[in-house]
Amino acid sequence: MDLGDLDVSQLPRRRKETGWLKVASRPDGGDWRLPFLYVTGKADGPTLLVIAGVHGDEYEGVEAIPLIFQSVQPDALRGTLLMVPVCNMPAYEAATRSSPLDGLNLARVFPGDANGSITQRIAHGVTEKLMKGSDLLIDLHSGGVTYHIPTLVGYSQSEDDLGRRSLAAARAFGAPILWGHPPPVPPGRSIRAAVDLGVPWIYTEAAGGGFARPEDVALYRDGVLRVMQGLGMLEGAPAPGPVTHHLVGSGDLDQVILASVAGYYRTEVGLLDEVKAGQRLGVVQDFFGQVLAEIRADRDGVVIMLRRLARVQAGDGLAHLTSHLG
Ligand SMILES: [Zn+2]
Repeated sequence: MDLGDLDVSQLPRRRKETGWLKVASRPDGGDWRLPFLYVTGKADGPTLLVIAGVHGDEYEGVEAIPLIFQSVQPDALRGTLLMVPVCNMPAYEAATRSSPLDGLNLARVFPGDANGSITQRIAHGVTEKLMKGSDLLIDLHSGGVTYHIPTLVGYSQSEDDLGRRSLAAARAFGAPILWGHPPPVPPGRSIRAAVDLGVPWIYTEAAGGGFARPEDVALYRDGVLRVMQGLGMLEGAPAPGPVTHHLVGSGDLDQVILASVAGYYRTEVGLLDEVKAGQRLGVVQDFFGQVLAEIRADRDGVVIMLRRLARVQAGDGLAHLTSHLG
């Protein structure tokens, strides 16, 4: 089916199906398609959209979504569960963060463009055909090949209805770290498209590394099922694990500490370390062990993201610091 022809309000009730949604044609005569899984309940209720693979080198959600699908039965479901385990299929094929076809980062082009290049078309289709009308968006990410991020759930920290629903979903998801983001969400993200549609959102991060850790896959699976309980889509009350850190910050990973020179990056701090402004976080060195640049904290804060890929070009992101709530 063409994604542009999809009308999720017309999906048959009490069904559980997998299929493919066409987003663009390929030069070989085939189609670029997105995998699509849905479950419609016996009873009416909320619509939940779960997406993964917005970045093509992040695998936790790709692995968790089929497990969620296996766990949800139509007779036990109120409402509709929509899931896309890989959104940026060209990037997934290349095992890269951004698309090799147009060079675009899908997480920077929402809400997309129906007449744009393939990444823009994917964003447009996901926004218009799946996100619009949903009651919650869950966007499953991780650090991918390049970055290292602790397992966390991000939410909209705002005093409005969208913020309250976002926090409730984040708490139900049950990641050990909650990371609140006061508005506005920077442009281009899936969660920004959600805000603009009035759809509450959460997203997740985990270690990444070019593979998925079993504990992160299990959390992503159980977390989505707990959110569905919280929304009244499944029976039972969510019983999330303990929160170890409640953090707050922009969450804008475009605003990171950058490498001033190219070289080999050696980090000297760990995730969730508390650092002081000016503290050395790591060094960029050459092949003879000479330090080319000392990388220092741009503020007091908690280390929430570190570069994992040691080879750096000038301008590459190395670390991001955030704050404790309150
Ligand atoms: Zn990502």
